[in-house]
Amino acid sequence: MDNQLPIGSTIGILGGGQLGRMLSLAASRLGMNTHIFEPNINSPAGRVSQHVTTASYDDVEALQAFGQAVDVITYEFENIPTSALDILENMSTIYPGRGALAISQDRLAEKNFLNSLGLQTAPFANVENDKEAVSAIASIGTPSILKTRRMGYDGKGQVKITKPTQIHTAWNTMQGSASILEGFIDFNQEVSVIAARSVDGEVSCYDPSENVHHDGILHTTKVPSSLSTPQRVDAALLAGKILNALQYVGVMGVELFVTPNGLVVNEIAPRVHNSGHWTQNGCDICQFEQHIRAIAGWPLGDGSRHTDITMENLIGEDINRIPELCKSSAALHIYGKEEIKPGRKMGHVNKRN
Ligand code: AMP
Repeated sequence: MDNQLPIGSTIGILGGGQLGRMLSLAASRLGMNTHIFEPNINSPAGRVSQHVTTASYDDVEALQAFGQAVDVITYEFENIPTSALDILENMSTIYPGRGALAISQDRLAEKNFLNSLGLQTAPFANVENDKEAVSAIASIGTPSILKTRRMGYDGKGQVKITKPTQIHTAWNTMQGSASILEGFIDFNQEVSVIAARSVDGEVSCYDPSENVHHDGILHTTKVPSSLSTPQRVDAALLAGKILNALQYVGVMGVELFVTPNGLVVNEIAPRVHNSGHWTQNGCDICQFEQHIRAIAGWPLGDGSRHTDITMENLIGEDINRIPELCKSSAALHIYGKEEIKPGRKMGHVNKRN
């Protein structure tokens, strides 16, 4: 194709966390440079990139200079302020596009979009005031989960409700933030599909993985999952439908609940995803390289699984297990974060099953 970025191009990445770091490493293997835009100094991605801008997302001059210095822009988290994107989109292409970002930034828009494609989601109701909180619990019932519509991640901004009267306290904890009440899905297991779409519209899905969360945070991902072949095909078709509907370019994580009534979409993440880290040691082309290929206008690589893997996140003090883990056969991926905090993702390991 004509629009391939040449080797030596500079990929701008908004966000300097571990996902940005692993994108930078993959870009570097492909002969590309990366430029990280991140408000904090010494970020995991900044430490492995050629260029870093340390500035806030409302620094117009810094955003303009960044936009001018890069050949394409991507991001490693979805909660980028709209005002920053308004500036950047006039200067460079942003992949994945803003449509996907807008949908994933708002749980209500996301559910409406997924339902419009005929895909199942948890039943939901919008909650923006006391009256809507009361009518939501009447229609959705219990058990249910009240979630902030925006800015929630890793189970943050969520309250589980087991008795209808708890809706009042739950809504008070949201401090007026627009929320949705979701019916609780009695799932057999949680799986995800990491899917990629190229500029030319080619779609490639990695094998679905089986995910276990502890306290709302991903703990382990296993491939192959215990899904049947028809369920795997369903999962891939469903992901392809989402990517095609959005004319998506890049890698997306699609989180699914497996239920007796079929696959229910929990959420979509318009970026590389924690449940896709197994691909680093389970495939020739990992999700990070796949994303860089897609946004650079290159053909997608072969994402087939050559090794069965269990990925385990190293969260908080787990990082102190490194001396013991490095004696095992596990592949170590450490993010270079200085401070250990409870719940903080410090690294992960990929072990052959
Ligand atoms: P989320 O941040 O929405 O991905 O939620 C984090 C985790 O909470 C999910 O991976 C599930 O384990 C659980 N969860 C979220 N929403 C629901 C739901 N509607 N029903 C059952 N479990 C849920």
